[in-house]
Amino acid sequence: MKEFTAQHIAGLSAMVAPDRFSTGPSNRELHLRDISFHQGSLPAGIIWPVTTEEVARILAWTYENDVPVTPWGAGTSTEGNPVPTRGGLVMDLTRMNRILDIRPQDLQADVEPGVLRKELNRQTGKHGLFFPPDPGADATIGGMIANNASGVQTVKYGATKDYVMRMTVVLPRGQVIHTGCKAPKSSAGYDLTRLFVGSEGTIGVVTEATLRLTGIPSHYLAATIRFPDLEKASEAVALMIGSGLGPAALELLPPGLIGLMNREKNLGLAEVPSLFCEFHAISANALQETAHLAKDLCEECGATGFQYATAEADRKDLWRARHEAWETIHRAHPKQETLIVDAAVPISRYPEMVVFAQQAVDARQAIGYVFGHAGDGNLHVVMAGDPANRTEWGKLEAINQAIVEKAIQVGGTCTGEHGVGIGKRKFMQMEHGESFELMRQIKNLIDPKGLMNPGKIF
Ligand SMILES: Cc1cc2nc3c(=O)[nH]c(=O)nc-3n(C[C@H](O)[C@H](O)[C@H](O)COP(=O)(O)OP(=O)(O)OC[C@H]3O[C@@H](n4cnc5c(N)ncnc54)[C@H](O)[C@@H]3O)c2cc1C
Repeated sequence: MKEFTAQHIAGLSAMVAPDRFSTGPSNRELHLRDISFHQGSLPAGIIWPVTTEEVARILAWTYENDVPVTPWGAGTSTEGNPVPTRGGLVMDLTRMNRILDIRPQDLQADVEPGVLRKELNRQTGKHGLFFPPDPGADATIGGMIANNASGVQTVKYGATKDYVMRMTVVLPRGQVIHTGCKAPKSSAGYDLTRLFVGSEGTIGVVTEATLRLTGIPSHYLAATIRFPDLEKASEAVALMIGSGLGPAALELLPPGLIGLMNREKNLGLAEVPSLFCEFHAISANALQETAHLAKDLCEECGATGFQYATAEADRKDLWRARHEAWETIHRAHPKQETLIVDAAVPISRYPEMVVFAQQAVDARQAIGYVFGHAGDGNLHVVMAGDPANRTEWGKLEAINQAIVEKAIQVGGTCTGEHGVGIGKRKFMQMEHGESFELMRQIKNLIDPKGLMNPGKIF
């Protein structure tokens, strides 16, 4: 659907205040792409609801009028997840951005979907609490729920799915439902909350969520550990986790990427295969003991250096550099797009995956940086190239395909955290087999006209 008719415009305009529906070209352009290379189809209009009731009225109307709807958070996805593929209406949730309640005694917060992660943590931080999933980008809570986002601290704290207790969801036909509850546990029937977490806006719009919070650690320490090769570094990962050290972050970085970070941020890090780690503890003594044990274990795996980032500024610089890895790669390869591998495997298979991925990149002489959330078995390869150059881009796609196939063979997944979006759809059948048909049936049951975020996952 390329343009709305006068009737569409009249119908949508009647449902929200005048400044919350637009068919202006710049607003439409701004909602055409996430950070990936994936191309969409220009939406015919953008709407900014501010209440669950408005979302319900809009979805009932779009269903009635056969208008495709794509929910939109901060637009920071990497697989085209919020990119409209059939034009229609983009529902931008960023104005539903109220933190409704923080209940420190329950370790919970009630939020609207447009609340930004960093703002939530600023407010919960006043109570000594935080919401740990951290995708680096300042994403909305709705986008994080829809993608089941995670990040550097997932190895200790878990992914978004572990923090969503209860939700209000508007279904594609406008029906409002509530899933889950505020009790710390429940065995009452099917877990619909988990069905909606990770559903990428394909079966409903999240309009409210109760999130679990946890205490901000009192003592933390970051370290960089140097290894002779990436394989040895990734072997140390399973050992550290298996020994019960409970690292709060365990990131694998290759020399090439550290080199780019050094040049951009003047970090002065050794340009060798490395692990960036963080440990959290309840006392300085406990932290020291953990760090010593980690050092011993890494040396057993051949580590050649262990350096603490004790000063708060050094620690922040280290993690800022890691969080900005994608941007750093982009800046180093201007005018190129990136294709991002996001495979995840059991941690025992991580070392061989790292070697396999590096060989796949080298064999095709591609520009590719192998790194990842090693503690979660999550492997990224950020590859740079020009999608219009079919030979060059074809090589990158072949690398992605080979790595995903291998990950699935060893019991893993095509996407550890970025979601399926447009980019990983081709792997869904391979990964899920007959369960993929069940997913399709669920989608058809809830959205029989296929209007919610069409062209994603399926
Ligand atoms: C530099 C960089 C680093 C990143 N690193 C990580 C990382 O380490 N880990 C990680 O997990 N991700 C990472 N990401 C990806 C991205 O930040 C996350 O997936 C994030 O959760 C997307 O949130 P968003 O608010 O931008 O949502 P959007 O991109 O706007 O939307 C994401 C999906 O959610 C749907 N959606 C949005 N709001 C709602 C709603 N209220 N109800 C229903 N559906 C909705 C959209 O339709 C879309 O399918 C990174 C991105 C960047 C730019």
